Amino acid sequence: MGNPIKIDYERGGRQKDVYDETEAINVPCPLCEKDEYREIYKERGVLGIVQCKDCNLIYVNPRLKNPEGVYWGDTDKYFKEARLIFEGKASHHRDPNYLEDLKLIHQYKPTGNFLDIGTNMGFFLRNAKEWKGWNLPRRCWPAQVGQSTC
Ligand SMILES: [Zn+2]
Repeated sequence: MGNPIKIDYERGGRQKDVYDETEAINVPCPLCEKDEYREIYKERGVLGIVQCKDCNLIYVNPRLKNPEGVYWGDTDKYFKEARLIFEGKASHHRDPNYLEDLKLIHQYKPTGNFLDIGTNMGFFLRNAKEWKGWNLPRRCWPAQVGQSTC
């Protein structure tokens, strides 16, 4: 993908670099509902990646009380934040993950309709457009951002 372009930009979302304990909540394992786990990683102050000691599921704990709130930002700022990616001048930092996931999905489902729920700005679908055999939604980006990008 070449060298990443380093630029200063203003983020479109409301994600913080650090959260405090009042913004997070402890949750039991979403698979087995047990509450014993080992911590794997901690980020942004209090957010954790843990592994359930009973069923081995890896999940986020503690997690944000209001995770969807990080996406409630200004649409114009979102577009400016991602403009180099939309213009094909930069890759997304998660492109290697997306490509690995797409390869795995393609092994099990090489054709058919493709839907990405919780698509953010559509960076995963942007990569899926390059694969043959899948029918993608007409709009590739969330409606507010995407009306001028698809
Ligand atoms: Zn579990």
